[in-house]
Amino acid sequence: MGIIVQKFGGSSVATPANMKDVAKRIVKCKNEGNQVVVVVSAPGDETDELIDLAKQITDSPDEREMDVLLATGEQKSIALMAIAIKAFGCDAISFTGPQVGIVTDDVHGKARIVKIGGEKIVKALKLDKVVIVAGFQGMDEDEDITTLGRGGSDLTAVAIATALGAEVCELYKDVDGILTTNPKVVPEAKLIRHISYEEMLEMASAGAQVVNVRSIEYAQRYNMPMRVRPTFNEGLGTMITMEAREMEKLYVSGVTYSKDEIKITVYGIPDKPGNAGVIFRAIAEENINVDMIVQDVSEEGITNISFTVGKDELKKSLAAVEKVKAKVGIKNIMIDEGIAKISVVGVGMRSHAGVAAMMFEALSECGVNIEMISTSEIKISVVIDKAKTEDAVRKLHAKFNLDKI
Ligand code: ASP
Ligand code: MG
Repeated sequence: MGIIVQKFGGSSVATPANMKDVAKRIVKCKNEGNQVVVVVSAPGDETDELIDLAKQITDSPDEREMDVLLATGEQKSIALMAIAIKAFGCDAISFTGPQVGIVTDDVHGKARIVKIGGEKIVKALKLDKVVIVAGFQGMDEDEDITTLGRGGSDLTAVAIATALGAEVCELYKDVDGILTTNPKVVPEAKLIRHISYEEMLEMASAGAQVVNVRSIEYAQRYNMPMRVRPTFNEGLGTMITMEAREMEKLYVSGVTYSKDEIKITVYGIPDKPGNAGVIFRAIAEENINVDMIVQDVSEEGITNISFTVGKDELKKSLAAVEKVKAKVGIKNIMIDEGIAKISVVGVGMRSHAGVAAMMFEALSECGVNIEMISTSEIKISVVIDKAKTEDAVRKLHAKFNLDKI
């Protein structure tokens, strides 16, 4: 009898009626002879609402106490889900993250999992119970409650699936699976049936917000098969594994975008070894992830560096650069909030030349100017004017024939 881990996101457990529907699905899976471990998110927009409550008290709430607060959302869901499953006559038990031994580092708000105990889960499964675990939370070495960053329940699910040696980790969401682009922008977007971790990772870090990025990294590291499935219908969704050969026939598998980044430009940096290191070390020390970086050609020994970070890291990033301003001799720091990042992703780029040319031509055909470019082996990203996002996405989706797969 195999173990299946099923994770249900916030919209799947938003109301008692949703919870009952989900519970029915879980009981069915159990009755088919599986051992089932369920991971749930906080109901609906509960996490946002909790953040909002704290923000009504202060702009910068204490990070440790924020985790204590946010963890309550998931705790609500596990209890209600266990109640729902039991009401259908199936035995179930709920546990918080700390109770099942999810040990993390102490970076409150985006802690990393360092260890998973899991003995409690194994014991309960042996007693034929469905086990419900709270997503998104753990505890650090001091037994302080931590959270894993937004969307972190996906990571909890994958980590538990790995620790238990589960057959598959199923992520149930309010979408049909992974699509070629956002269907709200391009109604012709198609379902991708099978995708590799690698491509999924690039798509997620480029703005496809369906699956938490760190959960994909984790699944890839341990080769845990993931399936993204719809909660509200029987669709099979998208399978994510090491290989997804059929995608190689395509130039590009998906078009994604993100409006959640801002561009910071640091002007007047003396162009000598070490200065970029000083600037980006200061940023790294604040635990800020930098995405794109572009350095201008230097003129008379002076250069400028532009980089992008997540919107919510703006304040911290500026403070970090300010700190080394005098040391480096920086003249000026500017921010641009009106940008978007558009990316095309596909393993097909390895075997097809000219994808960048096609992308840039398509953008010029719709009058879009490119401000920054970055590439990986299977992704090309550009920063453009935010107002042109939707036009650019529609154009690229058509250019790469994604409406015809
Ligand atoms: N409830 C948390 C969030 O909204 C974690 C999750 O849903 O995965 O980010
Ligand atoms: Mg602590």
